[in-house]
Amino acid sequence: MPLVGSRRESPSAMTFDFSTRGTGFEYLSNQAIRLGLPGVDDPWGAARTFSLSSSPTEHDLLSVTCKISDTPFKQALSRMGPGDSAVVVGPIGEFLYDAHRPSVFIAGGIGITPFRGMARYSADSQNAEPIRLLYSARIPEELVFRRELDAIARAHPAFRVQYTVTRPAGSAEPWKGRVGRVDASWIRETAEPLARPKYYVTGLPEMVEEIVSLLRGPLAVSEDDIDYEIFRGF
Ligand SMILES: Cc1cc2nc3c(=O)[nH]c(=O)nc-3n(C[C@H](O)[C@H](O)[C@H](O)COP(=O)(O)OP(=O)(O)OC[C@H]3O[C@@H](n4cnc5c(N)ncnc54)[C@H](O)[C@@H]3O)c2cc1C
Repeated sequence: MPLVGSRRESPSAMTFDFSTRGTGFEYLSNQAIRLGLPGVDDPWGAARTFSLSSSPTEHDLLSVTCKISDTPFKQALSRMGPGDSAVVVGPIGEFLYDAHRPSVFIAGGIGITPFRGMARYSADSQNAEPIRLLYSARIPEELVFRRELDAIARAHPAFRVQYTVTRPAGSAEPWKGRVGRVDASWIRETAEPLARPKYYVTGLPEMVEEIVSLLRGPLAVSEDDIDYEIFRGF
Protein backbone atom coordinates (compact mmCIF):
# COMPACT_ATOMS: atom_id res chain seq x y z
CA MET A 1 0.00 0.00 0.00
CA PRO A 2 1.34 3.46 -0.84
CA LEU A 3 2.11 6.02 1.83
CA VAL A 4 0.08 9.18 1.41
CA GLY A 5 1.85 11.18 4.09
CA SER A 6 3.37 11.16 7.56
CA ARG A 7 3.58 13.60 10.43
CA ARG A 8 5.14 13.97 13.85
CA GLU A 9 2.59 13.68 16.68
CA SER A 10 4.94 14.12 19.68
CA PRO A 11 8.70 14.19 20.32
CA SER A 12 8.77 10.39 19.99
CA ALA A 13 5.75 9.42 17.88
CA MET A 14 4.77 9.69 14.21
CA THR A 15 1.65 8.88 12.21
CA PHE A 16 1.78 7.22 8.77
CA ASP A 17 -1.24 7.38 6.43
CA PHE A 18 -1.55 4.72 3.72
CA SER A 19 -4.02 4.74 0.85
CA THR A 20 -6.39 1.75 0.80
CA ARG A 21 -8.03 2.94 -2.43
CA GLY A 22 -8.72 0.07 -4.80
CA THR A 23 -7.38 -2.60 -2.39
CA GLY A 24 -10.71 -3.66 -0.86
CA PHE A 25 -9.10 -3.36 2.59
CA GLU A 26 -11.77 -2.95 5.29
CA TYR A 27 -11.56 -3.10 9.07
CA LEU A 28 -13.57 -2.72 12.23
CA SER A 29 -13.08 -0.07 14.90
CA ASN A 30 -10.36 -0.64 15.99
CA GLN A 31 -8.37 -3.54 14.64
CA ALA A 32 -4.64 -3.86 14.04
CA ILE A 33 -2.37 -4.72 11.10
CA ARG A 34 1.03 -6.26 10.45
CA LEU A 35 3.10 -3.70 8.59
CA GLY A 36 6.01 -5.03 6.56
CA LEU A 37 8.91 -3.21 4.93
CA PRO A 38 10.50 -5.86 2.70
CA GLY A 39 14.24 -5.57 2.43
CA VAL A 40 14.79 -3.91 5.79
CA ASP A 41 17.55 -5.72 7.62
CA ASP A 42 16.40 -5.75 11.26
CA PRO A 43 17.38 -8.36 13.88
CA TRP A 44 13.68 -8.68 14.83
CA GLY A 45 12.45 -8.94 11.26
CA ALA A 46 11.02 -6.55 8.71
CA ALA A 47 7.47 -6.31 10.13
CA ARG A 48 5.70 -5.05 13.26
CA THR A 49 2.14 -5.20 14.58
CA PHE A 50 0.36 -1.86 14.96
CA SER A 51 -3.11 -0.92 16.10
CA LEU A 52 -4.85 1.24 13.55
CA SER A 53 -5.12 4.84 14.76
CA SER A 54 -7.59 5.68 11.99
CA SER A 55 -11.32 4.96 11.94
CA PRO A 56 -13.25 2.98 9.31
CA THR A 57 -15.19 6.22 8.74
CA GLU A 58 -12.02 7.77 7.27
CA HIS A 59 -12.44 6.36 3.79
CA ASP A 60 -9.65 5.16 1.50
CA LEU A 61 -7.14 5.47 4.31
CA LEU A 62 -5.52 3.59 7.14
CA SER A 63 -3.16 5.10 9.67
CA VAL A 64 -0.69 3.77 12.20
CA THR A 65 0.98 5.83 14.90
CA CYS A 66 4.14 4.57 16.51
CA LYS A 67 7.11 5.40 18.62
CA ILE A 68 10.17 6.01 16.49
CA SER A 69 12.99 4.10 18.12
CA ASP A 70 16.43 3.56 16.61
CA THR A 71 15.66 0.04 15.30
CA PRO A 72 16.33 -0.40 11.55
CA PHE A 73 12.60 -1.04 10.99
CA LYS A 74 11.46 2.18 12.67
CA GLN A 75 14.21 4.20 11.04
CA ALA A 76 13.20 2.89 7.60
CA LEU A 77 9.54 3.66 8.37
CA SER A 78 10.34 7.21 9.45
CA ARG A 79 12.24 7.81 6.18
CA MET A 80 9.34 6.70 3.95
CA GLY A 81 8.03 9.35 1.59
CA PRO A 82 4.72 9.74 -0.26
CA GLY A 83 4.29 6.98 -2.83
CA ASP A 84 6.65 4.56 -1.05
CA SER A 85 5.03 1.20 -0.40
CA ALA A 86 4.58 -1.05 2.63
CA VAL A 87 3.06 -4.51 2.87
CA VAL A 88 -0.09 -4.53 4.98
CA VAL A 89 -1.41 -7.82 6.34
CA GLY A 90 -4.74 -7.79 8.10
CA PRO A 91 -6.88 -6.57 9.58
CA ILE A 92 -6.10 -8.62 12.68
CA GLY A 93 -7.19 -8.58 16.30
CA GLU A 94 -10.35 -8.63 18.34
CA PHE A 95 -9.94 -5.39 20.27
CA LEU A 96 -13.27 -4.06 19.03
CA TYR A 97 -15.29 -1.04 20.05
CA ASP A 98 -18.82 -1.91 21.19
CA ALA A 99 -20.80 1.13 20.05
CA HIS A 100 -23.99 -0.04 21.78
CA ARG A 101 -22.98 0.67 25.37
CA PRO A 102 -21.03 3.23 27.43
CA SER A 103 -17.25 2.93 27.42
CA VAL A 104 -14.34 3.77 29.67
CA PHE A 105 -11.04 3.90 27.74
CA ILE A 106 -7.80 3.83 29.72
CA ALA A 107 -4.57 4.45 27.79
CA GLY A 108 -0.93 4.64 28.77
CA GLY A 109 1.52 6.36 26.41
CA ILE A 110 1.45 5.06 22.84
CA GLY A 111 -1.48 2.83 23.89
CA ILE A 112 -3.71 5.74 22.83
CA THR A 113 -3.64 4.64 19.16
CA PRO A 114 -6.81 2.49 18.93
CA PHE A 115 -8.73 5.00 21.10
CA ARG A 116 -8.04 7.81 18.63
CA GLY A 117 -9.70 5.57 16.03
CA MET A 118 -12.62 4.67 18.30
CA ALA A 119 -13.25 8.31 19.33
CA ARG A 120 -13.19 9.36 15.68
CA TYR A 121 -15.57 6.52 14.82
CA SER A 122 -18.01 7.51 17.59
CA ALA A 123 -17.94 11.17 16.51
CA ASP A 124 -18.26 10.45 12.78
CA SER A 125 -21.18 8.10 13.37
CA GLN A 126 -22.75 10.53 15.89
CA ASN A 127 -23.08 7.77 18.44
CA ALA A 128 -24.75 8.99 21.65
CA GLU A 129 -23.26 6.25 23.87
CA PRO A 130 -20.90 7.98 26.32
CA ILE A 131 -17.14 7.46 26.15
CA ARG A 132 -14.79 8.53 28.94
CA LEU A 133 -11.07 8.44 28.13
CA LEU A 134 -8.41 8.52 30.86
CA TYR A 135 -5.03 9.04 29.25
CA SER A 136 -1.68 8.94 31.00
CA ALA A 137 1.78 9.83 29.68
CA ARG A 138 5.10 10.63 31.32
CA ILE A 139 5.14 14.27 30.19
CA PRO A 140 2.52 16.51 28.54
CA GLU A 141 4.42 16.63 25.23
CA GLU A 142 3.95 12.85 24.97
CA LEU A 143 0.14 13.05 25.21
CA VAL A 144 -0.18 12.03 21.56
CA PHE A 145 -3.31 13.39 19.77
CA ARG A 146 -4.09 15.74 22.69
CA ARG A 147 -5.27 18.62 20.50
CA GLU A 148 -7.28 16.34 18.27
CA LEU A 149 -8.91 14.52 21.19
CA ASP A 150 -9.85 17.89 22.74
CA ALA A 151 -11.35 18.95 19.40
CA ILE A 152 -13.36 15.74 19.11
CA ALA A 153 -14.65 16.25 22.68
CA ARG A 154 -15.75 19.81 21.87
CA ALA A 155 -17.61 18.73 18.74
CA HIS A 156 -19.03 15.46 20.10
CA PRO A 157 -20.23 15.77 23.72
CA ALA A 158 -20.65 12.00 24.16
CA PHE A 159 -16.85 11.82 24.22
CA ARG A 160 -14.87 13.24 27.15
CA VAL A 161 -11.14 13.01 27.79
CA GLN A 162 -9.05 13.58 30.91
CA TYR A 163 -5.27 13.52 31.11
CA THR A 164 -2.66 12.78 33.72
CA VAL A 165 1.13 12.97 33.54
CA THR A 166 3.40 10.92 35.73
CA ARG A 167 6.67 12.89 35.48
CA PRO A 168 5.87 16.58 34.91
CA ALA A 169 9.31 17.61 36.20
CA GLY A 170 10.89 16.03 33.11
CA SER A 171 8.97 18.40 30.84
CA ALA A 172 9.71 21.80 29.34
CA GLU A 173 5.96 22.45 29.04
CA PRO A 174 4.17 23.83 32.11
CA TRP A 175 1.50 21.41 33.35
CA LYS A 176 -1.38 22.48 35.57
CA GLY A 177 -3.38 19.29 35.15
CA ARG A 178 -3.55 16.05 37.04
CA VAL A 179 -0.32 14.34 38.12
CA GLY A 180 0.24 10.66 38.91
CA ARG A 181 -0.86 7.30 37.63
CA VAL A 182 -4.39 6.22 36.82
CA ASP A 183 -5.75 4.84 40.09
CA ALA A 184 -8.86 3.04 41.32
CA SER A 185 -10.61 6.11 42.73
CA TRP A 186 -10.23 8.06 39.48
CA ILE A 187 -11.62 5.15 37.46
CA ARG A 188 -14.52 4.70 39.92
CA GLU A 189 -15.40 8.41 39.85
CA THR A 190 -15.30 8.44 36.04
CA ALA A 191 -17.38 5.30 35.57
CA GLU A 192 -19.96 5.93 38.31
CA PRO A 193 -22.46 7.95 36.21
CA LEU A 194 -22.36 5.37 33.38
CA ALA A 195 -24.71 2.39 33.11
CA ARG A 196 -22.55 -0.76 33.10
CA PRO A 197 -19.72 0.53 30.89
CA LYS A 198 -17.25 -1.64 29.07
CA TYR A 199 -13.63 -0.97 30.06
CA TYR A 200 -10.85 -0.95 27.46
CA VAL A 201 -7.19 -0.77 28.49
CA THR A 202 -4.12 -0.37 26.25
CA GLY A 203 -0.44 0.30 26.73
CA LEU A 204 2.78 -1.41 27.69
CA PRO A 205 2.51 -4.69 29.64
CA GLU A 206 3.19 -3.30 33.13
CA MET A 207 0.58 -0.55 32.88
CA VAL A 208 -2.10 -2.81 31.38
CA GLU A 209 -1.51 -5.48 34.03
CA GLU A 210 -1.78 -2.88 36.81
CA ILE A 211 -5.04 -1.37 35.52
CA VAL A 212 -6.65 -4.72 34.75
CA SER A 213 -5.82 -5.87 38.32
CA LEU A 214 -7.54 -2.76 39.68
CA LEU A 215 -10.60 -3.46 37.56
CA ARG A 216 -10.77 -7.11 38.56
CA GLY A 217 -9.90 -6.45 42.22
CA PRO A 218 -10.94 -3.27 44.07
CA LEU A 219 -13.32 -2.13 41.33
CA ALA A 220 -15.02 -5.54 41.04
CA VAL A 221 -15.67 -5.23 37.31
CA SER A 222 -16.93 -8.41 35.67
CA GLU A 223 -14.48 -10.11 33.29
CA ASP A 224 -17.04 -9.76 30.48
CA ASP A 225 -16.83 -5.98 30.80
CA ILE A 226 -13.03 -5.77 30.41
CA ASP A 227 -11.04 -5.79 27.18
CA TYR A 228 -7.37 -4.99 26.88
CA GLU A 229 -4.57 -4.90 24.35
CA ILE A 230 -0.94 -5.17 25.36
CA PHE A 231 1.66 -3.47 23.16
CA ARG A 232 4.42 -6.05 23.54
CA GLY A 233 7.78 -5.54 21.88
CA PHE A 234 9.20 -2.30 23.25
C1 LIG B 1 -1.62 -5.72 19.21
C2 LIG B 1 -0.44 -4.79 19.17
C3 LIG B 1 -0.63 -3.46 18.82
C4 LIG B 1 0.46 -2.59 18.80
N1 LIG B 1 0.23 -1.29 18.43
C5 LIG B 1 1.27 -0.42 18.43
C6 LIG B 1 1.05 0.96 18.09
O1 LIG B 1 -0.07 1.39 17.77
N2 LIG B 1 2.13 1.77 18.11
C7 LIG B 1 3.40 1.32 18.46
O2 LIG B 1 4.34 2.13 18.47
N3 LIG B 1 3.63 0.05 18.76
C8 LIG B 1 2.60 -0.84 18.77
N4 LIG B 1 2.82 -2.15 19.10
C9 LIG B 1 4.21 -2.59 19.37
C10 LIG B 1 4.95 -2.78 18.04
O3 LIG B 1 4.54 -3.97 17.40
C11 LIG B 1 6.49 -2.84 18.23
O4 LIG B 1 6.82 -3.99 18.95
C12 LIG B 1 7.01 -1.63 18.97
O5 LIG B 1 6.59 -0.47 18.28
C13 LIG B 1 8.54 -1.69 19.11
O6 LIG B 1 9.16 -1.80 17.87
P1 LIG B 1 10.67 -1.32 17.68
O7 LIG B 1 11.13 -1.70 16.33
O8 LIG B 1 10.72 0.12 18.04
O9 LIG B 1 11.42 -2.07 18.85
P2 LIG B 1 12.15 -3.52 19.07
O10 LIG B 1 12.62 -3.43 20.45
O11 LIG B 1 13.14 -3.83 17.99
O12 LIG B 1 11.05 -4.57 19.06
C14 LIG B 1 10.70 -5.16 17.87
C15 LIG B 1 10.52 -6.64 17.95
O13 LIG B 1 11.57 -7.29 18.65
C16 LIG B 1 11.08 -8.18 19.61
N5 LIG B 1 11.96 -8.11 20.79
C17 LIG B 1 12.67 -7.06 21.21
N6 LIG B 1 13.40 -7.39 22.29
C18 LIG B 1 13.14 -8.69 22.56
C19 LIG B 1 13.59 -9.61 23.53
N7 LIG B 1 14.47 -9.27 24.47
N8 LIG B 1 13.09 -10.86 23.49
C20 LIG B 1 12.21 -11.22 22.56
N9 LIG B 1 11.74 -10.39 21.61
C21 LIG B 1 12.20 -9.14 21.60
C22 LIG B 1 9.70 -7.71 19.92
O14 LIG B 1 8.84 -8.79 20.22
C23 LIG B 1 9.24 -7.03 18.66
O15 LIG B 1 8.54 -7.88 17.81
C24 LIG B 1 1.76 -3.04 19.13
C25 LIG B 1 1.95 -4.38 19.46
C26 LIG B 1 0.87 -5.25 19.49
C27 LIG B 1 1.11 -6.69 19.86
